[in-house]
Amino acid sequence: MSIEKTEKFTTSQASIAKNVSKHTTVGNWRDYRWQLANSIRDIATFEKLTGIVFTKKEHKALEETISKFPMSITPYYASLIEKENFRNDPIFKQSFPNPAELKISRCDMKDPLHEDKDSPTKGITHRYPDRVLFLVSNRCSMYCRHCTRKRKVGDPDYIPSKKQILEGINYIKNNPRIRDVLLSGGDPFMLPDAYLDWILTELRKIPHVEVIRIGSRVPVVLPYRITDKLVKMLKKHHPIWLNTHFNHPRELTESAREALRKLADAGIPLGNQSVLLAGVNDCPRIMRKLNQKLVQNRVRPYYLFQCDLSEGLSHFRTPIGKGIEIIESLIGHTSGFAVPTYVVDAPGGGGKIPVMPNYIISWSTNKVVLRNYEGVITTYKEPDSYEPVFCDRNCDECSLQLKLDEAIEAKAVGIEKLLADFDDQISLTPHENARHKRREKNNGGKHGASA
Ligand SMILES: *Cc1c(COP(=O)(O)O)cnc(C)c1O
Repeated sequence: MSIEKTEKFTTSQASIAKNVSKHTTVGNWRDYRWQLANSIRDIATFEKLTGIVFTKKEHKALEETISKFPMSITPYYASLIEKENFRNDPIFKQSFPNPAELKISRCDMKDPLHEDKDSPTKGITHRYPDRVLFLVSNRCSMYCRHCTRKRKVGDPDYIPSKKQILEGINYIKNNPRIRDVLLSGGDPFMLPDAYLDWILTELRKIPHVEVIRIGSRVPVVLPYRITDKLVKMLKKHHPIWLNTHFNHPRELTESAREALRKLADAGIPLGNQSVLLAGVNDCPRIMRKLNQKLVQNRVRPYYLFQCDLSEGLSHFRTPIGKGIEIIESLIGHTSGFAVPTYVVDAPGGGGKIPVMPNYIISWSTNKVVLRNYEGVITTYKEPDSYEPVFCDRNCDECSLQLKLDEAIEAKAVGIEKLLADFDDQISLTPHENARHKRREKNNGGKHGASA
C-alpha cells in the first residue's frame, strides 16, 4: 500500500488513532485492514475512541438498539464527527444507533421493495426487463443507520455462498435479456480482490452482459479500500460503472476524494445515490453543495432517494415535498449534471418512480405554456405541420434507418403501450377493478381491455 509522504493525521484522526493504540501510525490508519480490524462495534469502544460519553440511561437504550440493529463504524468515519455538537452531526446520525430505530411505525415494512419476493434465485432481484440486482456480499464496512436492507445486516443467513453466487451467475447466463448487472450487497468491495475478480470474470464471459455496475459506500466510509491493486483489477473488466453513496458535503474529505480520483482515473464512470434524510441533508443548500462538490470530483449525481418504508427508519423520513423543494432549488440554479433524479422506490416492488416539480402549466393543440426556474412563464409554439409516421414496428422499412441486426425486440409495456401506434390497447385497468368484475359476471367471464 502506498503512503503519501506528505500525509499527516488530521487532529481528530490523531485523537482516535492514539486512543486505539499509542503506536498507531499514519500507515496503519490508511490501511483498510487496520480500519476494519478496529471498527467500532459497541458503545463503550465508541466512548473510548471519541471521548463522547453517554449516561447510564442512554447506554441501556443504545444497547437495546444495537441488539436489534448492530453497529459498526470505521475509525475513519468516526473521525469526521464534530464532537462539540455531535447530536446534530450528520456523520453521527448516519452511523451511530438511535433508540428511535426501535419504534416501528404503522407504515413500516420488513421488505418494502419486495426485493425478496421479486427474487428468482437467492441474491438476485429481477424487477426490470433488462437488468438485475445481484447481492454478492452481505458485509459492510459501516452499518448505515438508514440502510434499506437493515433486516439483513449482520444476519449470517444472508451470507452468500460461492454456490449461491454461481446460481446467480447461471440465472443471468440463462436470461439473454439481461444486459446490465448491478452488483450490490452489503458492499461488493468487502470481498477480497481475487474473489470479486472471479465474479467479474464469470460475468464477462456472458456475451449478453453489456455493462456491470457496482454499488459501494466504501469511497465514503472506508476510502482506503480503493487501492491501486483494486482499481487495476477492475480495469480489466470494463465497462464497469460505479455508484457510490455520499449524503453530505462533509463526507468529501481529502481521503474520499483521493479514492474517487483513483476510480475516475481508471476510466470508471462514477455516479452517486443519496438518500434524503431528516436532520442530515433535508436542506436545499446542503444538497446543492453536495452535488456541486461531487461534480467537482468527477462524480455525476444519479439518484436522490426518498427514504424507504423499511423498519427502523421512521425518524429519518421527510415528506416527499421536501425532495421536490430540493429539486426545485437545483434545476436551472446549477449545472444540469449536478442535478440527480429524485425517485420514490415504490413500496411493493414497482421500482423507482421519478418525481419532479411541474414545469408544464397548460397546453392547447398548438401551444404549450411552460415556466422556468425563475418563474418566467413562456409559450412554446408547436409546429404547424408535423408528419407523424405510423409506427408498426417494422423497423427495416422505416425512414429513420435503425439497424436492428442484434436488437432483441421487446414488447411495449405500461404507458408506452398506450402511446404506441402498433398496439390497439386503449386502457390499463387495475387487477381488482369492481366495474370490470361486474362486467365479467354479466358477460359470463369475457373481459374488456386490461393490463
Ligand atoms: C435500482 C434497481 C435497479 C437499477 O435501476 P436503474 O434505474 O437502472 O439504476 C435494478 N434492479 C433493482 C431491483 C433496483 O432496485
